[in-house]
Amino acid sequence: MKGDTMTRNTGATEKGWNFDNSYTRLPEKFYSSVTPAPVSAPALIVFNNPLAEELGVNAQELQEGDGAEVLAGNKIPEGASPLAQAYAGHQFGHFTMLGDGRAHLLGEQITPEGERIDIQFKGSGRTPYSRGGDGRAGLGPMLREYIMSEAMHALGIPTTRSLAVVTTGDPVYRETEQQGAILTRTASSHLRVGTFEYAVRYCSEGELRELADYTIERHYPEAGGEKNPYLTLLKSVINRQAELIAKWQLAGFIHGVMNTDNTTISGETIDYGPCAFMNTYDPKTVFSSIDVQGRYAYGNQPYIGGWNLARFAEALVPLLDKDDEKAVEMAQDAISAFGDLYRDYYFSGMRKKLGLFNEEEEDKQLIDSLLGMMQKHDADYTNSFLALTYDNTEDLVFSETDKYNDWHKKWQERLERQEQSIEEARKLMHKSNPAVIPRNHRVEEALDAAVSKNDFNVMERLLEVLSTPYEHTEDKKAYTEPPPPSDRPYQTFCGT
Ligand code: AMP
Ligand code: MG
Repeated sequence: MKGDTMTRNTGATEKGWNFDNSYTRLPEKFYSSVTPAPVSAPALIVFNNPLAEELGVNAQELQEGDGAEVLAGNKIPEGASPLAQAYAGHQFGHFTMLGDGRAHLLGEQITPEGERIDIQFKGSGRTPYSRGGDGRAGLGPMLREYIMSEAMHALGIPTTRSLAVVTTGDPVYRETEQQGAILTRTASSHLRVGTFEYAVRYCSEGELRELADYTIERHYPEAGGEKNPYLTLLKSVINRQAELIAKWQLAGFIHGVMNTDNTTISGETIDYGPCAFMNTYDPKTVFSSIDVQGRYAYGNQPYIGGWNLARFAEALVPLLDKDDEKAVEMAQDAISAFGDLYRDYYFSGMRKKLGLFNEEEEDKQLIDSLLGMMQKHDADYTNSFLALTYDNTEDLVFSETDKYNDWHKKWQERLERQEQSIEEARKLMHKSNPAVIPRNHRVEEALDAAVSKNDFNVMERLLEVLSTPYEHTEDKKAYTEPPPPSDRPYQTFCGT
């Protein structure tokens, strides 16, 4: 890195911006300095007050006066240094050069807590990495990202977040004409596995090392003091991703486009294009229209996670050891730990969903048997756990079966065997089983009202409900309903 460390930049501006742009101190190959393309008539659609407060930006200033101009990229905040990041990635298994084709990183906001958070626009115009794309985004998909990412955050799943959406006043052309929009996305960084794949393929070993040192300093500073910091970096990322993907599985979240450019080094969920939550439990569930082979199906996510991390390990090989063979062996050992790490996170989360504090050998069987019943009887994943939380057997579609009666008896015996009371077990289940998830039909309903009718109330109400998913209140009941039966399977789309 040019310059030294990530020192804190003081002196927040009137709007509360407090930028320090460490990314610009990386070698120039890692980015292109480019400003957002101006738009005709910015208008603020939605703004995230709690997030603004965490960031230390002035919510009022950004929602009034020229705030929309700033959030649309027409006025660059003081201290920002806009750039598009270079990266590559494996998309559906194939290597491609990518980069921010429609995003601009303004810089890193230093929060009042001293955290460093990327502020990025998405849909803010063309960059040197746009290829044939228009650099723009439609209102529907940007609101969808806002809703989904904020819902994930409230569920306790690490994620990029959404500060605001503005419309641009300019149309974008997809299958139909849409209102153009820009999302302000925040992230602990936008470093991806694909950033490392880019470095190992197109940069020198020295530049790859600079990127790795930068990443360690930014995300895993404890690795810096280790004998082999790069091996520790690899292991740390594997661990964070294992935990993240376990959380997805536990919540029934299907990312939909787990390409390596959408796999963060920080362990945050990124890219809310074709994602959706599963209703009825089925590991084969796929919503993305282009994922015809089911590569990114719900049940495949842990395997794909391991595959993506193997690409990260490959990229780090030149740094792991001077001896190639030894380096490859180290990378393989680190990768082979992923499966067990993932399973530990997953089963410990599943135990909590069933009110279990300790661990017993047969727990896996208990869990698998429950999921088997859900699959066989097309049971709603979220609501089945909700019914168990309240022991509302009548709400379970498979409650009349012998298999369930047998299972329930075993579960009760298991709960009684542990030290904690049934009351404590219920509390644990309560905290671990959300009442509401962003159901696809509810998200679509909110987007339709916003985009077609200019009515943002449906979305505001949905956002409110989704902000406290573990509070099982009566007013949420309508949002717990699975979608009405439909002839057409729900489909999501990439690159919108
Ligand atoms: P995604 O599917 O969102 O992960 O995007 C894959 C790649 O396509 C990234 O390099 C994006 O920056 C780029 N991209 C997506 N949409 C556009 C667009 N409308 N204009 C330019 N680049 C785009
Ligand atoms: Mg992406």
